[in-house]
Amino acid sequence: MKSMTCKDLGGPCDLEHRGESADDVINAQDRHLKEAEKAGDATHQEARDAMKSRWRHPKQSMGWYRDTKAAFAALPDA
Ligand SMILES: [Zn+2]
Repeated sequence: MKSMTCKDLGGPCDLEHRGESADDVINAQDRHLKEAEKAGDATHQEARDAMKSRWRHPKQSMGWYRDTKAAFAALPDA
């Protein structure tokens, strides 16, 4: 298991997401951003919009995924 924070994934807070793969933490961050949006948390809105646009434009977002996966791969196993 490794962990990345909301901040590592482009968000504003230090909440940690743990997972076995980069996809796990990306999905956890997506859920976290959705919940923040539902709760009316304006500090997460920019990250939420960025994540939404990534789902809509997966090709243009490959760089972000690659960087996130590389960052995850470089983390020590906890
Ligand atoms: Zn957050």
